[in-house]
Amino acid sequence: MKPNAVLVRYAEVFLKGGRRPWFEARLREAIDRQVSAAGPFRVREMHACMAVAHRDSKGWDLPDIEVGDALNAAIGRCFGVVSWSPARIVAREISRIEAEVAAIADEDVAGAETFKVESSRSDKDFPLDSMELNRRLGGVVWERTRVKVRMKDPTVTVSCQILPKVAALFVETRPGPGGLPVGSSGRVLLLLSGGIDSPAAGWLAMRRGCEIDAVHFDAAPYTGPESRAKVEDLARLLAAHERSMRLHVVPFGALQADLRDGAPGRLLVLLYRRMMVRIASAIAAERGALALVTGENLGQVASQTLENLAVIEDATAMPILRPLVTYDKMETVALARRIGTYETSIRPGEDCCSLFVPDHPETAGRVARLREVESRFDVEAMVAAALKGVEALDLP
Ligand code: ATP
Ligand code: MG
Repeated sequence: MKPNAVLVRYAEVFLKGGRRPWFEARLREAIDRQVSAAGPFRVREMHACMAVAHRDSKGWDLPDIEVGDALNAAIGRCFGVVSWSPARIVAREISRIEAEVAAIADEDVAGAETFKVESSRSDKDFPLDSMELNRRLGGVVWERTRVKVRMKDPTVTVSCQILPKVAALFVETRPGPGGLPVGSSGRVLLLLSGGIDSPAAGWLAMRRGCEIDAVHFDAAPYTGPESRAKVEDLARLLAAHERSMRLHVVPFGALQADLRDGAPGRLLVLLYRRMMVRIASAIAAERGALALVTGENLGQVASQTLENLAVIEDATAMPILRPLVTYDKMETVALARRIGTYETSIRPGEDCCSLFVPDHPETAGRVARLREVESRFDVEAMVAAALKGVEALDLP
């Protein structure tokens, strides 16, 4: 089949009742941004679905388009899309539909073992009902190909959807990324290290409709420039899903050295984390972000025990979202590969959290103890000094 459109389906946004038009507008905006960057495409609204068509299309007589890698990838970045199909959109006339189905029969059904036609009508003014359409179009296919009809699990399914203005024909349905359109749930701030987990956590938050900004704590000169470069690359990969992202890079090395000089080594990771969430919360407030997001997980490393998560939360009033909390490492790695961040994450580059830290950091921190150690420091001044040195990068 030579497509002249891509049919894009969404479902979850329907659940939002009165907000439906607003959700549809966010989705439409996101799809339009993605596909228009991928080639000569734009999005068109249809009945309960959308169509990606040629940029210059007017009316419904659509020029053919090429559904290649760039468009595939662009649709893969459209959160809220449940499934999609390369399609032929044609006038709602039975003779036109039959002619298109004849072409599809030659191209996609001939030589197959079995087929069926699956029709549906979104309104009842079309002269044929779905059963009659199935029979009529099935007849066209059979006449040309002599391929057997099979209702259960046929090799090829030719779908025909009668929409209010046009008919859509397609033979394949591909999964979209699901979730909710970016920007429909508000803004969050992702704590982005150079590791595997935090980019995956950021992607999951975006898939729930969050627009994300990122913050990275940079221990230069104790860590090399490759750590910083890696984080920028990861931020760019995530930024491709939304209109723009601000990456905040916080100078953290001096603060870490101060903590090392006046606190027990066993507590350093927790002290770093508490500082991170304090600084991040200040940045979030300034950006209008309503929550922090981390790649933390339960029990994956010694510092990420329930006790220690509680110790970290004690340092901020802001909610901390941890999308990966129930993931196995293998599941996180699989996700990172699928979303294309894995290869960047595994590049060499040290993270600030391992600086000055002994082999056996605390696994069961207590809030009172952390507060006591922190009382030896001027925490507010340390936070203020770090905030003063923040570098902001607007991506892409
Ligand atoms: P990741 O793979 O994301 O680095 P991890 O399994 O290595 O996670 P940790 O290194 O303990 O776990 O970090 C836990 C979380 O703390 C990270 O997922 C990230 O959200 C945050 N974090 C750690 N280091 C930094 C950093 N240098 N800058 C920003 N956030 C950080
Ligand atoms: Mg890490």
